[in-house]
Amino acid sequence: MPVLVADDSPVSRRILEASLKKWGYDVMSVPNGSQAWEVLQRDDAPRLAILDWMMPGLSGPEVCGLVRQQRKRYYTYIILLTSRHEKEDLIAGMEAGADDYLVKPFDSSELKVRLGPGRRIVELQTKLLEAQELLREQATRDALTRLWNRHAIFDILLRELSRSQREFSPLGLVMGDIDKFKSVNDKLGHLAGDAVLREVASRIQASIRAYDAAGRYGGEEFLVILPRCDADQAVMTAERIRGSIEIKPVDYGGGLTNITASFGVTALPGGEICTPEKLIRAADEALYEAKGSGRNRTARGVIRP
Ligand code: GH3
Ligand code: MG
Ligand code: MG
Repeated sequence: MPVLVADDSPVSRRILEASLKKWGYDVMSVPNGSQAWEVLQRDDAPRLAILDWMMPGLSGPEVCGLVRQQRKRYYTYIILLTSRHEKEDLIAGMEAGADDYLVKPFDSSELKVRLGPGRRIVELQTKLLEAQELLREQATRDALTRLWNRHAIFDILLRELSRSQREFSPLGLVMGDIDKFKSVNDKLGHLAGDAVLREVASRIQASIRAYDAAGRYGGEEFLVILPRCDADQAVMTAERIRGSIEIKPVDYGGGLTNITASFGVTALPGGEICTPEKLIRAADEALYEAKGSGRNRTARGVIRP
């Protein structure tokens, strides 16, 4: 685990470095508070810090104060090093945000055990953040296809609608539906159907830009949101997706099968107020038309008041 050591005394720094390295820490050391603060602002900063109290530039407690004010994802566990007379001011140091302190000249075994809680807090927080990340992932992603789920894609649509209105930029919407998907399930089985859904999702994702958003809207229905795309560009994107599905058969695990999909497209000119329902209805009606006129095609829909 990386540890930052800040101490203006070279002797003290060397002793700390030697001990910490012996215990397996990855040590980074700096000779003053300003450099410590610089390091601690970095994204990959050590999350354990041992700061001397008195240092040129910023003092240990001052660095503590700055660290606690910054809005950072990761917690920095700080141990202050104090000399005997500074011990009187200890409360101030702890109030500034230090987690613990050690009186100089310090006892090496004491430092070793005092680093324990710091390491545990840092490790606990890492686990907590990972769990949080996993929950967010589960709440917003469709488990089968890894695309946005219905709820998340609707949220994105809401956000993009207000951006389109605010920034006078067009907004394209594509709704896609796999053709005769029921017969894939019927002939090849549900697992093959799932594999087809995953592959279609991955071809959709590969056909769009990084700032477009693709979601699974229903069983075998997909919604693609295209910020800053007018109707012509949205049709082009739908056609690109359609082509990528049609062009080569899908490997469903037990063989290959040809798949096609139909698309309904609509777009909102910038600066207009529109509900997500109206936009979705227009795309849905166009999709219905594409199905009715033979499938494996793209149709345009108009937004009705
Ligand atoms: P069309 O060309 O008119 O769209 O015909 P279709 O057969 O695709 O349309 P329909 O809506 O009747 O069928 C959709 C099928 O998708 C029915 C349902 O069993 C299947 N389906 C929905 N979700 C899943 C899923 O998660 N996995 C699998 N394997 N099938 C699913
Ligand atoms: Mg279908
Ligand atoms: Mg359907």
